[in-house]
Amino acid sequence: MALFQNLDLDKKNDNSPKEVKMKELKKEKCVIIGSGPAGYTAAIYAARANMNPVVIQGMEAGGQLTTTTEVDNFPGYPEGVTGPVMMEDLKAQAKRFGTRVEWGTVTKVDFSQHPFKLWVDENQPYEAETVIIATGATAKYLGLESETKFKGAGVSACATCDGFFYRGKRVAVVGGGDTAAEEATYLAGLAEKVYLIIRKPFMRASKAMQARVEKTENIEILYEHNTKEVIGDSIVKGVVLIKRKGEPDESEVKIDIDGFFLAIGHKPNSDVFKDFIETDEMGYIKTVPGTSKTNVPGVFAAGDIQDSTYRQAVTAAGSGCMAALDAERFLGEV
Ligand code: NDP
Repeated sequence: MALFQNLDLDKKNDNSPKEVKMKELKKEKCVIIGSGPAGYTAAIYAARANMNPVVIQGMEAGGQLTTTTEVDNFPGYPEGVTGPVMMEDLKAQAKRFGTRVEWGTVTKVDFSQHPFKLWVDENQPYEAETVIIATGATAKYLGLESETKFKGAGVSACATCDGFFYRGKRVAVVGGGDTAAEEATYLAGLAEKVYLIIRKPFMRASKAMQARVEKTENIEILYEHNTKEVIGDSIVKGVVLIKRKGEPDESEVKIDIDGFFLAIGHKPNSDVFKDFIETDEMGYIKTVPGTSKTNVPGVFAAGDIQDSTYRQAVTAAGSGCMAALDAERFLGEV
């Protein structure tokens, strides 16, 4: 009895790193990383081309669209569709042609040699003849508790996705860059009133975008305002702002709004590839113009991970198709 107790104690004091038990290597023709519209469209094309693709879903299965409500601008859905349903449809379509969809996140890659090596959740190694990176970008949020509470109930990071629901209503956009300026102008065409909340005394957006915002009558720019809290009951009713934060004349301002839009930038999910794949200074993967080719032959990029401009489900899907066709051609050449 005493012996077992001692063994238990020894176990408790053992702080050495746990050994990760490696699973058996899986060899694939085509590994698609990411399960948004780019990833699943790549899968549909790759599966139909007998490349037997596997989709590694990643942390946010279904991608950014699963965080929006109605999608009214994807062709083929005359009555609109919700983001999660559209992603289930895309997944089902990809599976219909034999795509395998696996849980997990790619935690490490080695693209220094062909075939490429990837590890999912650290312990599942893959060897891949082609890789399609479709890991997308993640919208940045302010990090307020109240903002999380109202996500999908008045808080959104995509004006083109959700703006339509605020026709004739009052909304606020946070940010002073080109995205914020563009989203504020877009929303001004739908909403009764748009507040543009900018933390600095000036806008970072290009001069042309600033001019567009300034001459739009129903946009009111609130310079030197920071968001303190989004308020409401089950839906957003307003927002509390701090004007001239940290200055002697700091004051609190409350505005009534129905929608609160974040436009403070996106972070492309490219960190895990950065030792091998060229990106721009913001982390977006560079592709050869007009193709999905990266600097590593056999590795392709599709969707928001390589697109800081359009960032739409339909453009992501289109580039997913390009990536699968490029991968198919690559396999025909090696
Ligand atoms: P940017 O990084 O250019 O701008 C982000 C904005 O959000 C800045 O005004 C920044 O404020 C503000 N911000 C960041 N964090 C916070 C915070 N915590 N609280 C309040 N405000 C915050 O991102 P964009 O998405 O606007 O643009 C990204 C890139 O894409 C840019 O190069 C842009 O030019 C480009 N783009 C081009 C378009 C076009 O040409 N049509 C359209 C959209 C984007 P601060 O200035 O104080 O740092």
